[in-house]
Amino acid sequence: MNDLAHYAVCEANSRGRQFYEAAPQGRSEFQRDRDRIIHSGAFRRLEYKTQVFVNHEGDLFRTRLTHSIEVAQIARSIARHLHLNEDLVEAISLAHDLGHTPFGHAGQDALNGCMKDYGGFEHNLQSVRVVDVLEERYAQFDGLNLCFETREGILKHCRLDQAALLGELGERFLNGRSPSLEAQVANLADEIAYNNHDVDDGLRSGLITLEQLAGVPLVAKHLQQVHETYPDLTGRRVVHETVRRMINTLVTDLINQSAANIAAQKIQTLDDVRNAPPLIAFSAELNHQQRELKKFLHIHLYRHYRVMRMSAKAQRIIRDLFAVFMADGRLLPFQSPETQTDAGRARVVADYIAGMTDRYAIREHKRIFAVEEDSI
Ligand code: MG
Repeated sequence: MNDLAHYAVCEANSRGRQFYEAAPQGRSEFQRDRDRIIHSGAFRRLEYKTQVFVNHEGDLFRTRLTHSIEVAQIARSIARHLHLNEDLVEAISLAHDLGHTPFGHAGQDALNGCMKDYGGFEHNLQSVRVVDVLEERYAQFDGLNLCFETREGILKHCRLDQAALLGELGERFLNGRSPSLEAQVANLADEIAYNNHDVDDGLRSGLITLEQLAGVPLVAKHLQQVHETYPDLTGRRVVHETVRRMINTLVTDLINQSAANIAAQKIQTLDDVRNAPPLIAFSAELNHQQRELKKFLHIHLYRHYRVMRMSAKAQRIIRDLFAVFMADGRLLPFQSPETQTDAGRARVVADYIAGMTDRYAIREHKRIFAVEEDSI
């Protein structure tokens, strides 16, 4: 690890774990967190969960697993430049999507709708629930018993009524304080990763075209550079050369602007970070360009009729599963004492559905609703 800045998170200023454990041998506390995340069941399931394209649509599209690895890679580069804790940003990045439902945001919206009378469903809170409660790997505690700073980084945002129920983890939302710079880096690395890989996947799927994207300033600038440098280049290499330049520009801008913010606010300690407004940020110009790209993707990719059709199917699957398990808890493949009350059963069902991969949800739906001979 590189030299840490005084305002970076380190073991000495960490608020530690909920349950006492002896210090790890030969690795840092945050490396241990990362290792626990990688060994978790929820992490392995990310391989078959998607954000935009459903898992079976093609082998080349990002899954939540490859997305999380890309986020970790981008976040580590930024952290290294800013002398922040690389192990911590890696742990947060790898865990940030653990609570996502199958079928991306369509799945989360459907499950949130199903849960509206029972406290709702929110993927960020669910990610914390996975690492604090749902993983069953240790004899002495539920969850993974991660360090406070890792859990804080996973909980990117949170409603105030929910924050009030979360103890020390919710405090910063109630007090209007900022999370560590490592948490802020992981958050923005997530944005850089998905905006750019959605351009790549969107083009590969044929749902958007380079001609359309040439109207987006961030893309246009880099596409032009590629055409000027390699006038004869065509096909996929044009896309990859453009996307890698975009990522590089965004990462470099983020590092420079964030370093300037840290200097301007005279940040010396982790406490200074928590008392300051968010410091990890793009410059105004790149922030604007990044938003334009996001807007483009919303209109042309996320709301493309083929994506909308898949989302509608996904939502129907989630609603059907939720309704059938709520109506008769005996259909669940496991029984738990909490299913005796409606609210208890709703949370158990939500946890079960949220933990499903895309293909597991499709198969489970078929097992319950299809009547063909081979579906039971
Ligand atoms: Mg993400």
